[in-house]
Amino acid sequence: MTGLRLQAPPVVLSAPSGAGKTTIARALVEREDDFAFSVSVTTRPPRAGEAHGRDYWFISDGDFREMVARGELAEWAEVHGELYGTPRDGLVRAAEAGRHVVLDIDVQGARQIREAVPEALLLFILPPSVEELFRRLKGRGTEEEGAIRRRLTTALEELRAAEAFDFFITNDDLERSINEVRTLARTGRQPPGGGSGTLEDARKLREGVEALLRQERLP
Ligand code: ADP
Ligand code: 5GP
Repeated sequence: MTGLRLQAPPVVLSAPSGAGKTTIARALVEREDDFAFSVSVTTRPPRAGEAHGRDYWFISDGDFREMVARGELAEWAEVHGELYGTPRDGLVRAAEAGRHVVLDIDVQGARQIREAVPEALLLFILPPSVEELFRRLKGRGTEEEGAIRRRLTTALEELRAAEAFDFFITNDDLERSINEVRTLARTGRQPPGGGSGTLEDARKLREGVEALLRQERLP
């Protein structure tokens, strides 16, 4: 990304799975002309309702490897056994148009973006509580007990990476969260009244998820 003049810094949203980052990212991009969604490439199959080119570019393992080899991805990572990556050209186009590109990516990807685009804003979305995180993970209805346990384990890994982020947003009230991301992106500062989350909140959630995973059966 070197050499690009960025009028509007990219916004990276990471979160423990189920915290609501996709919901926030989608709402912002739908409502605001100066925000654009970075559509990732992935090797995972589409879920019901997902569209090629809108939610992801669904590609084969071989095509993904070729994109990596040609240097076409700004970052990439393996998540839940599938490959995910951010196409460089989407970032370049948004930068040229002066729009904030919103990246809904995992913490491994966030670290790589920090290296590649130092001015990027790294935001960590937190659920209001462990109970609510669990409820949202189950509420999507697409996951079985084994899959929920795996997602909780990933959530734990994501929470362990929280130190690398610039700001924390507790996604309790969705409108407030959207407003907070918008204000942070445009001004680099939190809205009046301060931020809704802290690194300490991330630490407490981590302990809560650890306790949940120690239980033999999930509630
Ligand atoms: P993520 O992308 O972080 O895994 P999603 O955006 O898919 O999470 O959200 C997980 C679930 O939580 C979805 O069912 C979504 O509608 C719900 N959700 C998101 N934000 C809120 C909120 N502020 N209050 C209540 N439910 C929410
Ligand atoms: P899902 O398969 O549920 O859509 O996404 C699984 C995880 O992969 C989520 O944490 C999501 O943010 C992350 N992810 C999606 N796209 C990318 C990407 O391009 N790069 C990285 N590193 N992670 C991604």
